Amino acid sequence: MANWQSTLIAGASFAILAACGQAKTADTETLSEPEAFAAVDTNRISTASAADEWLTYGGTYDEQRHSSLIDVNKETVADLGVAWTYDLATNRGVESTPIVVDGVMYVTSAWSLVYALDAKTGEELWVYDPDVDRAVGVKACCDVVNRGVAVYDGKVFVGVIDGRLEALDAETGEVVWSKVTVDQSKPYTITGAPRVVNGKVLIGNGGAELGVRGYLSAYDANTGDKVWRFYTVPNPEKQPDGEISDAAFEDIGNVTWGDEGAWVTDGGGGTVWDSIVYDEVNDQIIFGVGNGSPWNREFRDPSGGDNLFLSSIVAVDAETGAYKWHFQTTPGDNWDYTATQTIILADLPVGEDGEARRVAMQAPKNGFFYVLDAESGEFISGDAFVPMNWAEGLDENGRPIEIADARYGAVPYEQLPGPLGAHNWHPMAFNPDLNLAYIPAQEIPQAYARDPRFETQPVGWNTGADFSAGVPPIAPPEVAKFLRSTLKGRLIAWDPIAREARWSVEHGNAWNGGVLSTAGGLVFQGKLNGDFVAYDAETGDKLWNHELKSGGASGPSTYMIDGEQYVTITTGWGSAFGLSAGFAYDETVPSTVGKVVTFKLGGTGEIADPDFPMIDKTPKADSFGDETMIAEGSVHYARNCTVCHGPLAVSSGVLPDLRWSAISGNEMAWKGVVIDGNLAANGMVSFADHLTPDQVESIRAYVLAQAHAAVPAGSGGE
Ligand code: CA
Repeated sequence: MANWQSTLIAGASFAILAACGQAKTADTETLSEPEAFAAVDTNRISTASAADEWLTYGGTYDEQRHSSLIDVNKETVADLGVAWTYDLATNRGVESTPIVVDGVMYVTSAWSLVYALDAKTGEELWVYDPDVDRAVGVKACCDVVNRGVAVYDGKVFVGVIDGRLEALDAETGEVVWSKVTVDQSKPYTITGAPRVVNGKVLIGNGGAELGVRGYLSAYDANTGDKVWRFYTVPNPEKQPDGEISDAAFEDIGNVTWGDEGAWVTDGGGGTVWDSIVYDEVNDQIIFGVGNGSPWNREFRDPSGGDNLFLSSIVAVDAETGAYKWHFQTTPGDNWDYTATQTIILADLPVGEDGEARRVAMQAPKNGFFYVLDAESGEFISGDAFVPMNWAEGLDENGRPIEIADARYGAVPYEQLPGPLGAHNWHPMAFNPDLNLAYIPAQEIPQAYARDPRFETQPVGWNTGADFSAGVPPIAPPEVAKFLRSTLKGRLIAWDPIAREARWSVEHGNAWNGGVLSTAGGLVFQGKLNGDFVAYDAETGDKLWNHELKSGGASGPSTYMIDGEQYVTITTGWGSAFGLSAGFAYDETVPSTVGKVVTFKLGGTGEIADPDFPMIDKTPKADSFGDETMIAEGSVHYARNCTVCHGPLAVSSGVLPDLRWSAISGNEMAWKGVVIDGNLAANGMVSFADHLTPDQVESIRAYVLAQAHAAVPAGSGGE
């Protein structure tokens, strides 16, 4: 068996190297030194001044992911070729948007590694490994990914998967300060990119699938001292935390929560795991809040309240963190409908008589595209951008008009969108010249049903929804093929003024990638199947395509050095979809080796062909167990194993396919891993606390049954 988990780090030197001696293209007046590294302040990141570089996660503070660079345009894009590639040191999901400043590119990869590269040549300047305990991997709902760094005042800031926030010297990669931002005894993770505003580093966290209480924090960029914290749900006693969010809960939040329910022990959720935007005009931070812990409100809070600030867009004062406004996209979330997705600020002619209003836009998981007044949070418009059957629409205040069946009970309700959302973390972009938003949209249904066995577990997911609902005990490959056929992805050019799609491009069942818009009239988007495409921003016509030979899900970025425009994207295979819906691809899994792939006009470089490990796709033992045992195993598999090892025991190729594993062929070896935690160092921790030996063995019986079910059809590793 190829043990991909044990080769997470290979091939790269982690020595902290001295900075390369090449001249940097430091070219703004704000620099105090001509060759400074990441000499960034708030003025430089400002939407008004950023141009040739990519200084923060969303490009500028407005996070439109729109570049004013025009050398790569509709006419020239055909000549776009590979300038350089760089191999990242991990082979898990990659979601990092490259940050480019003063000639240096800063990217991250799985397990929160940080890389500084010469942005012109790809030469490695330094690599920083925060040396995360791999056992933390079990806390990560959606792979041990990282979406990127922030740069400010000579430092590079990274949120580490184990909950640390660290400041690195931008020139050397040495740690300047390191703070633990979470209770590490709880299943918190950090995958999102920090943002820095006026000397404060903003960072949230994830973990709402497992059971945590969410918040956004601000830390002093120089010292690492905490400045403020805004909780997104009350504490179980609904008492003040001594934090800036206290007043909001006293005024409006506490009354939306009952006194009993699983939220009291599970934290309630509401993690701020992605979008954090600085509104320069109103000097406020606008951030997106995630789903409830557990998902199912019936268990979370039987009183049936709206549960503020779950699934909300919240604005707070940038200096103090004091509450300003909120808009709840999904009151009383029941479906993992996070509102953490890309928030974009823009001036749109949607006021009376068509006058410009400064707005915040979001296309969250629940499938509605929202336009809100940025200053007040007032609901301006909201429209479905995908087919849906959980709500009929929105009322005049923007509140969903729910379809009753969507509040699922024991009978599974096949719903769109499912928990992977109508739009997930893949960054959306906005072209301010065309007033079009580009949404990486998807249709991935889910059969929601109440979990009859729900009780909070110490390890793994706590949703209160039954992942085994509707899944047959033994599923032949045809089932996987059918499920695959139900998945759809598309790129939608959404007109927020006309409130309709201008154009859209179907991606088949290929999960989406993030989007980059440019003033060259282009929209760049990768896909997990490896395509990297440039579309005509006005029409959606495909103008250019390059095969990445790996998954292209991250947000691309673009920059200019020495008169040449570069377009760059990080690649790799994994993430939530890769792990949990890995059967999306028929024949080959895209390469899992992470890379940075950078293009320029006239580039003639090649992307090396990946080496695929050979896997012996045969069951390693006879099938055993009666129908009852296998059915029992399928339920425990769905509850405990699906989200990492894949539904129906079909792996995406990121983590071992248990059907072909020698370990699943041997009772003692299986017990050694699942009960005794023999592979905890790889991230596969013990499940002894809540699975009995009989239950663990029933999972093995199910896995082997699935292996044998796959073989007669000649499907091999579906
Ligand atoms: Ca979630």
